[in-house]
Amino acid sequence: MKTRAAIFRRVGEPLEILELDVREPAPHEVVVKMSAVGICGTDLHQLKGEWQRPTPMVLGHEGAGVVEWAGSAVTGLAVGDEVVLSWAPSCGACADCGRGRPAACVPLHRAIGAGTLVDGTTGLSLDGETVYRGTATGALAERVVVDAKVALPTHGAVPLREAALLGCAALTGVGAVLFAARATPDCSVVVLGAGGVGQFVVQGARIAGASTIIAVDPFEGRRTQALALGATHAVQPDELESCLADLLPEGADYVFDAVGDPSTSATALRFTHSGGTTVMVGLPATGLRLDLDPAEFLRREKWLTGTMYGSEDPAVALPILLEHVAAGRLDLASLVGPVYSLDNADEAIQASLAGVSGRVLVTP
Ligand SMILES: [Zn+2]
Ligand SMILES: [Zn+2]
Repeated sequence: MKTRAAIFRRVGEPLEILELDVREPAPHEVVVKMSAVGICGTDLHQLKGEWQRPTPMVLGHEGAGVVEWAGSAVTGLAVGDEVVLSWAPSCGACADCGRGRPAACVPLHRAIGAGTLVDGTTGLSLDGETVYRGTATGALAERVVVDAKVALPTHGAVPLREAALLGCAALTGVGAVLFAARATPDCSVVVLGAGGVGQFVVQGARIAGASTIIAVDPFEGRRTQALALGATHAVQPDELESCLADLLPEGADYVFDAVGDPSTSATALRFTHSGGTTVMVGLPATGLRLDLDPAEFLRREKWLTGTMYGSEDPAVALPILLEHVAAGRLDLASLVGPVYSLDNADEAIQASLAGVSGRVLVTP
């Protein structure tokens, strides 16, 4: 089988659109014809050289498409079904998989670091040379072969361009509030970073019933969007301190760092209320460390936690999010940003790096 795909080779070089060889799918796999793929912060880390992963690599892990072929052992999916890809094709055998957290699977993370699937292969090659798969997926392609367990059906409930956002940003952001923090009604929330994931943290906070939601972002367009999606206040980073002095002088019950930089993590900890919870959502560049004052935790009994992919099995979380969409509580449509063809995938990357509002999509 062949597929056209966007290939990342080196930092600073544009993505190349080439035709790759794809190994024949196995009986437990499906071939998904990709309809839309979002550009995520994880892709940008690699494009900026902040993470070292093997190349050439097909990036992209936030996608939706249509099942084009299903293996003989696949149940519950048929040709023509609309699906969201989960980027957690985990080992299925470890303790984390056993507790229903495939995104925490250690063999999966090892594979993601190696640019492969859990079995060490990628199934992709170019003139005999191995091509690696970003985040165990490699969605920036016309066709992707995946284990059927990570092709999650949407039953046509949402247009595919919107469904793509469910594949990473929505599960991560909404899940951070509902499943990781388990935020309670009338709580106060600060969200640092109102990019793709941050906007879904804002919406998760609204769904949880937070009474105060402060979104923080340097880009005006993102602040405006956050206000439209449920933030009660939206400020620039240097305005946060005075905003909180007025609104929440003791700090917020929950502070989400959707950026993932040591400076934003420190801000998140600082402005968390006594007994409150700081949640690290955004992924940091490799090698960064936090400089924390342990006394701050002890004296003020703060909690610090991290969340990966919304701290829930995507197969469990997706139907819950689809219910919120159906009920009008979760807005995907207004977060769809500019859309590019696969041939213009590099323009999509540049738009995402420039901080446009809404998720930048590629439609292979
Ligand atoms: Zn992602
Ligand atoms: Zn596992």
